Amino acid sequence: MDENGLDIFAALAKPRTGKLFVFSGPSGAGKTTVCRMLMERVDGLVFSVSHTTRPKRDGETEGEDYFFVSDEEFENLSRDGAFAEQAVVHNHRYGTSRAFVDEKTSAGLDVLLDIDVQGAAQISEAYRDRAATIFIITPTLDVLVERLRRRGTDSPEVLATRIKNAEAELARYVEFKYYLINDDLDTCVRDAEGIIRAERLLVSDII
Ligand code: ADP
Ligand code: 5GP
Repeated sequence: MDENGLDIFAALAKPRTGKLFVFSGPSGAGKTTVCRMLMERVDGLVFSVSHTTRPKRDGETEGEDYFFVSDEEFENLSRDGAFAEQAVVHNHRYGTSRAFVDEKTSAGLDVLLDIDVQGAAQISEAYRDRAATIFIITPTLDVLVERLRRRGTDSPEVLATRIKNAEAELARYVEFKYYLINDDLDTCVRDAEGIIRAERLLVSDII
């Protein structure tokens, strides 16, 4: 057939490099919930478990929700270049393991990241077209505050910080490729699934 690399069957036979699906948005928008549901519904996805210096909440599991580390451990990892991106969010440090992301994408798996807007910008810069950035938001600000309150995981002080920080985070939606409105959860997850499936079918990724 074609000798100029324009044969679609030859292109499809090549091993695929995975993509990064970056979910960002203010605290309470539904990133954790949507990522969990996507993991159940879509094949070929792995979730990137971040490192954080934030204290563990009730019900959270080490290695599943986060790798909980001390400030010193985080600093050592950072110095060793272990993070693909890192940021201070709501007064604590968070970082994404570079080794995990690179290993999984090399194996053809897509990686879900639940990270803040600063981290999303760093991933975009580093991974370019291999990263699809998605901004999740509630239908209104009032709904966001109500969901955060109802989640009941944060002390009044932490809640106040998260609501205060939401404003600056919301202003950065313009940096993202996609947006998702998390009103009805099932619709939101279906839309997220649509983004993933469409991103997997880009011709530009196989030429
Ligand atoms: P984030 O990870 O962005 O901080 P969560 O996934 O923890 O947000 O969601 C915040 C709260 O809102 C949780 O208690 C979650 O169960 C709830 N929630 C998420 N999506 C919806 C939805 N579509 N409708 C109602 N409640 C929701
Ligand atoms: P939480 O403490 O509620 O789990 O997360 C607080 C914020 O930190 C959320 O916006 C979440 O997306 C973000 N976050 C979690 N992991 C990382 C990470 O590895 N890097 C960055 N930049 N943000 C993260």
